[in-house]
Amino acid sequence: MSAPSLEVTGLAYAYPDGHQALYGVDLRISRGERVALLGPNGAGKTTLVLHLNGVHRAGAGHVAVGGLPVEKRNLQEIRRRVGVVFQDPDDQLFMPTVADDVAFGPANFGVTGPALDSRVRGALDAVGMAEHADRSPMHLSGGQRRRVALATVLACDPEILVLDEPSSNLDPVARRELAEVLVGLDRTMLMVTHDLPYALQLCDRAVVLDAGVVVADGPIRELLADDEFLRRHRLELP
Ligand code: ATP
Repeated sequence: MSAPSLEVTGLAYAYPDGHQALYGVDLRISRGERVALLGPNGAGKTTLVLHLNGVHRAGAGHVAVGGLPVEKRNLQEIRRRVGVVFQDPDDQLFMPTVADDVAFGPANFGVTGPALDSRVRGALDAVGMAEHADRSPMHLSGGQRRRVALATVLACDPEILVLDEPSSNLDPVARRELAEVLVGLDRTMLMVTHDLPYALQLCDRAVVLDAGVVVADGPIRELLADDEFLRRHRLELP
């Protein structure tokens, strides 16, 4: 049996000011799963993500990606394996053209020539943006920019995609287009979101964090059908 895409065991973390943000978090994601990471403001979701891509080092516990412990890898290798798509596409788009932005990651990891061209084409095809390859990212719509940001990560062929609030600030059409792209990718995903309907549409499973503790991990449909659970953890369905 292959190693899980992500395995977090007993992860605890306190910020330098002493604030304990995570207490013994366990999370295991198998290859191909799409999991929503839910929880109220301040639950520890961002703190957890910042452990996955190596920004924070665990105070206690372990994180392994594709069976390899994050603690033992260098930052560049971690970033290749854990593809974080940030909430603001501006954090990921800074080159003159869309194709340049998508090539930037794999080129940095040593991919060159026809292999690089093929990565760029494949990633732009996967997000439905191939015909915009030569345009400036600055001239694209918000939804298009978010899909290009996703392509910059896909081009690095990560073990797991981590999506931070993927539906925020998108109009209904762009929301639907992005959802179609994400479903079509057939990738392991961890989606951090407050948008419960979007999570329900895209994920089969939800992990709920509250005050740094995993309070539920199970089928998303069942969790979100429990009104008392939603109220207790300040989660809201529209
Ligand atoms: P949101 O949904 O609002 O983005 P979150 O679930 O991502 O919240 P985190 O940002 O991980 O939550 O924060 C978890 C806890 O850690 C909160 O109590 C927060 O105030 C605290 N925290 C976050 N960053 C720092 C920091 N740099 N120093 C001290 N405490 C912090």
